Amino acid sequence: MNIPFSPPYIDQSVIDQVLDTLKAKWITSGPKVKALEQEVLELTGSKSAICVNSWTSAAIMMMKWFGIKEGDEVIVPAYTYCATALSVLHCGARPIMVDILDDFTISPSKIKAAITSRTKAILAVDIAGLPCKYDAINALIKDPYIRQLFQPETSKQFLLGRILLIADAAHSIGAEYNGIPSARKADITIFSFHAVKNITTAEGGCICLNLPEVFDNNAEYSFLKMYSLNGQTKDAFTKANGASWRYDIVSKGFKINMPDICAAIGLAQIRRYKSELICRRKLIANTYCKRFKMYDWFIPPVLKDKNRESSYHLFPLRIKNITELQRDQIIDFLVAQGIHVNVHFIPMPMLSYFKSIGYIIEDYPNSFKQYSCEISLPIYPQLSDEEVEYIIENVVEGVKRAVYRAQLVAVVI
Ligand SMILES: *Cc1c(COP(=O)(O)O)cnc(C)c1O
Repeated sequence: MNIPFSPPYIDQSVIDQVLDTLKAKWITSGPKVKALEQEVLELTGSKSAICVNSWTSAAIMMMKWFGIKEGDEVIVPAYTYCATALSVLHCGARPIMVDILDDFTISPSKIKAAITSRTKAILAVDIAGLPCKYDAINALIKDPYIRQLFQPETSKQFLLGRILLIADAAHSIGAEYNGIPSARKADITIFSFHAVKNITTAEGGCICLNLPEVFDNNAEYSFLKMYSLNGQTKDAFTKANGASWRYDIVSKGFKINMPDICAAIGLAQIRRYKSELICRRKLIANTYCKRFKMYDWFIPPVLKDKNRESSYHLFPLRIKNITELQRDQIIDFLVAQGIHVNVHFIPMPMLSYFKSIGYIIEDYPNSFKQYSCEISLPIYPQLSDEEVEYIIENVVEGVKRAVYRAQLVAVVI
């Protein structure tokens, strides 16, 4: 068998949507992007949704929108994809990395300890699709003592009057928190529609606004549509459809709008997401749990607890009492059997660039601990029951071999 890690979901409905876009002869931002934004609003109940060309560009733009700059600090977990911290660096600010909880999400108590008068935002990452502890994080940023530490410098910062909470929801579209879409638990929630995510537009992302009432979400939506397209008052679609040719540039905008040809892919997927695609992911995750439960080496991932339910983006398998080397041996075994897996994530302080700017992994012991025993297994709607069965059998065999090999080595020593 050859089982890819996370192939995009492309069926006839996706192909039909893309062909429809080509036949309409309008391929850049236009009606398909609008329709995708509408679907995101329905799925999440957010106040506004703006589609762009990636999570990363969205994060940079939204931090710029808030006025984050050199000298500011943004709190991020050490355990995430590099884009979380790079987006902060691109704004000129410093990412303050903190450690995670055993469920992989950012530790609220570590956030609390990291807050200073320079803290402008928190980027909380819903790793594997599990929402962060948003009630605790929201309580922190609204705490009177922490509020009075906040030093506003721009009109948006004065209006908010506290630390901005941005959710890195690259993994978590469709996840829930206290029975509502988790996207509503942060001021700004950003999804990624990169090719490996639950919903994809090849490359892309979506910004959901759920800013407090002091902000005019509709006005912010209109501004951000322009801000993501060079600060231009009329986009090409509006001009092509009868509006006068004359336009203005009203801000130093970005050029990160999503094209319709990409939106078409996501549009077909999102329409089947809650009723179909996410259900199959959940079923696979539950099958893995049910089958691995009988082994004492199995550390189950949190998929659902009393507040939260995952979007089942990743299945982060963890194995008790193994070393990083044994974990790598299990991966080698699985790959040799044709099963493609990954590790989510190599903590950022272990990557060359972050080391070169002064981060060290010893400061994040739980990030290292979780990383060293983690293997992300294939989980996606197209995965067949036979393939799931094959993966389970081989994981069990791979663990047995790695543990047995270590015991042999111990005997020899
Ligand atoms: C994929 C991912 C991103 C980046 O998304 P892009 O759309 O590729 O920019 C950011 N954060 C996390 C946690 C991710 O997994």
